[in-house]
Amino acid sequence: EDIRVIMDESAIRRALTRIAHEMLEKNKGIEDVVLVGIRTRGIYLARRVAERIMEIEGVPVEVGELDITRYRDDRLAPGADEGSNAAELPFSTRDKRIILFDDVLYTGRTIRAAMDALMDHGRPQSIQLAVLVDRGHRELPIRPDYVGKNVPTARHEQIRVSLREIDQGEDHVSILHP
Ligand code: 5GP
Ligand code: MG
Repeated sequence: EDIRVIMDESAIRRALTRIAHEMLEKNKGIEDVVLVGIRTRGIYLARRVAERIMEIEGVPVEVGELDITRYRDDRLAPGADEGSNAAELPFSTRDKRIILFDDVLYTGRTIRAAMDALMDHGRPQSIQLAVLVDRGHRELPIRPDYVGKNVPTARHEQIRVSLREIDQGEDHVSILHP
């Protein structure tokens, strides 16, 4: 087993600051924009970017959470209860520009399921995607609008994301070769 750090604390901080600026530029400000973080680490990334936007623009931006585990098409046992396929967000997303946040983008299946849940919640104006790491190996026609770092990986490799809010106060991204 071999672990190598590919983003340290400053690299993560700079990447999120850059993404905040890119979001503001692409959306010509922050009007109608809401952030939605995919559990668990996507939520912390979305909150950090919302803090940056507050610093840059002086405007608060809403942040919601999405738990997509049960909506994944390939993780449902036959006959299992799918539940209602809708996001439970504390605000309306109708006609909003939603920016989805996740830590790692891989096959794209989680994002497809997230888009499904968001569409059922109320028709947004648009959905954009921000990820800290794009590790490749897409199985669906999905691409991120904002990327912290592109990391070409082999399928057997794994990305480890530590965020200070939940990972012993440490911020770093590593690649693990088993
Ligand atoms: P996908 O649905 O695109 O195949 O996988 C993305 C989801 O699985 C994300 O929510 C991400 O957290 C998790 N994931 C997939 N591959 C990795 C990986 O190499 N490292 C980490 N930390 N999470 C991954
Ligand atoms: Mg995840």
